[in-house]
Amino acid sequence: MIDLIQKNLEKSAIILKNAKHATAFTGAGISVESGIPPFRGDGGIWGKYDPKILELGYFLENPEESWIVIKEIFYEFFNVAKPNYAHLGLADLEKRGIIKAVITQNIDNLHQEAGSKNVIEFHGNSKILICTNCSHKEKVENVNLEKLPPKCPKCKSLMKPDFIFFGEGIPQIAYQKSIFETKNADVFLLTGTSGSVVPASYLPYDAKKNGAIIIEINPEKSAYTNEITDYFLKGKAAEITKLLIEKINLL
Ligand code: NAD
Ligand code: ZN
Repeated sequence: MIDLIQKNLEKSAIILKNAKHATAFTGAGISVESGIPPFRGDGGIWGKYDPKILELGYFLENPEESWIVIKEIFYEFFNVAKPNYAHLGLADLEKRGIIKAVITQNIDNLHQEAGSKNVIEFHGNSKILICTNCSHKEKVENVNLEKLPPKCPKCKSLMKPDFIFFGEGIPQIAYQKSIFETKNADVFLLTGTSGSVVPASYLPYDAKKNGAIIIEINPEKSAYTNEITDYFLKGKAAEITKLLIEKINLL
């Protein structure tokens, strides 16, 4: 088993080093070592909270109740998280011209905080609030969350976090950019994603169809592992990314 991981690490390092257009695709798993749990599974957020607060209809009808929970999860609990070596490693690979884009399903802003420049947020970003009436956007740090729900400074209507709730569509620009980066990828590096959230989960299949080599980092097998993954690097995101970069540095 250890030999197989070593072999896959060496191969993956060579493939990334020679890539013309590597694209990274990340999910909740990349932020687990930063202290942010995934939604599903052991220790997942939905084990403690009811996901209905992120259903658009429920939120609009019960804004105060929803916001009390949203504040606790996203603006108290998540807020202290810092990028880990997996985020930093992807930013480093972008600086070196190896990775051209990071498509993330995460909403925690940690790729940007790690220094990645071309970050495509498939599901939006929790650090920004958007008005449900006039679409005015405001950084959450400029909004008073002592009195809930927060109101738009322009039109006084209800504000919501600028990530998509259940029942909302994918932001168009992010969707189009993701398709572009998927079509152009000769290598697709998956980190910490189960492949169970549609439509984001289709992107790796599209990349594979377009001829990309699929490298996957995950401590558990995902929907992709036995289907499309060429090199499975079994382990935690920060640990494996560190080993991978060490290998690239030796080439
Ligand atoms: P997911 O598809 O993001 O699954 C999480 C995956 O992470 C699983 O495959 C799991 O095996 C893997 N994982 C667990 N620990 C890991 C580690 N240390 N290193 C690498 N991989 C690890 O599904 P989800 O958690 O159900 O999330 C649903 C949606 O909500 C996704 O779009 C997700 O990105 C988003 N979400 C975002 C955040 C965030 O912004 N940090 C947190 C929770 C959920
Ligand atoms: Zn407004």
